[in-house]
Amino acid sequence: MKQIHNFSAGPAILPQEVIQNCSDALHNFSGTNLSLIEVSHRSKEFVAVMDEAQSLVKKIMNIGEDYEVMYLQGGASSQFLMVAMNLLETKAAYLNTGTWSTKAIKEAKHFGQIDELASSADKNFNYIPKDYKIGSDYDYFHCTSNNTIFGTQLHTFPTSSVPVICDMSSDIFSRQIDFSSFDLIYAGAQKNMGPAGTTLVVVKKEILNSVSRYIPTMLDYNTHIDKGSMFNTPSVFAVYGCLQTLKWIDNQGLEQIENYNNQKADLLYSEIDQNDMFEGTTAREDRSKMNATFVLKDDSLNASFLDACSEAKISGIKGHRSVGGFRASMYNAMRLESVKVLVDVMKNFK
Ligand SMILES: *Cc1c(COP(=O)(O)O)cnc(C)c1O
Repeated sequence: MKQIHNFSAGPAILPQEVIQNCSDALHNFSGTNLSLIEVSHRSKEFVAVMDEAQSLVKKIMNIGEDYEVMYLQGGASSQFLMVAMNLLETKAAYLNTGTWSTKAIKEAKHFGQIDELASSADKNFNYIPKDYKIGSDYDYFHCTSNNTIFGTQLHTFPTSSVPVICDMSSDIFSRQIDFSSFDLIYAGAQKNMGPAGTTLVVVKKEILNSVSRYIPTMLDYNTHIDKGSMFNTPSVFAVYGCLQTLKWIDNQGLEQIENYNNQKADLLYSEIDQNDMFEGTTAREDRSKMNATFVLKDDSLNASFLDACSEAKISGIKGHRSVGGFRASMYNAMRLESVKVLVDVMKNFK
């Protein structure tokens, strides 16, 4: 079978060796002769997986003992409320750059005052607002590093004297950033770090225990920190998949990963700009290196472009309904060769 070029926005492409290792572990997990999905999460083999999945995150992020790493369930969407429930006492500041930020704001509003410091909703979220200041009287500032749906990305982060919280679901480990400048980072695994079913949360311990409300046990970060993400049964398969991906990331290092991601994004965006049939949908300086959104100037040709894509074994390229057109997601595991195939289809289409 000819290889499929998987541009899906999520769940998304994973390295072939990760899929192979997961597949092997389904049959014989860590020499136990049992399947990964039929062993106790308290077995020493799985406890070792969980421990390494946590320590590798710290290693790759280059963060210290003042941070805790958790693998939770409920998706990044549950973090919209857990963040506020655990950290919002009076008021918090949010940057609204798209669908996911909007949802985070909606949930947080139930726990205190939310000030939307800036928003790009006026232009269907096609840019990143930069003209705002973060006051010093907020409990925290929340932003979304990469806007999976609209195809914009924060290439720099604002400075802030209050804790910075970031939803990095769709660009975690895609570039070198100073992770220690964040106080809480969360990411649903299924975009860039593993299979669906678990959510990474990294938190600086000192920001916890500052709210007065009762927090239900399962929603309290302390519960999961105290029990090493094993308070209840974790998503064993998803965590195992994350560990395999983290090893793959660690072997290359974020510098190499970032360079490769830059090459892919440069190649695609330069075709979008040169090919007069197409145009990008976002401000150039805010373009996402993970999710490139673009349209055909003549949208009556959409169906035939999609046909040309599937002819070339390109999958997952149809744009999100709120933007239309096309979206090419180029997560870490996407090969440059696959982006070349897409670019060739665009050239031929012209
Ligand atoms: C996909 C996505 C989410 C939602 O993740 P779930 O795990 O499905 O809840 C949140 N934020 C961003 C930036 C995303 O890309």
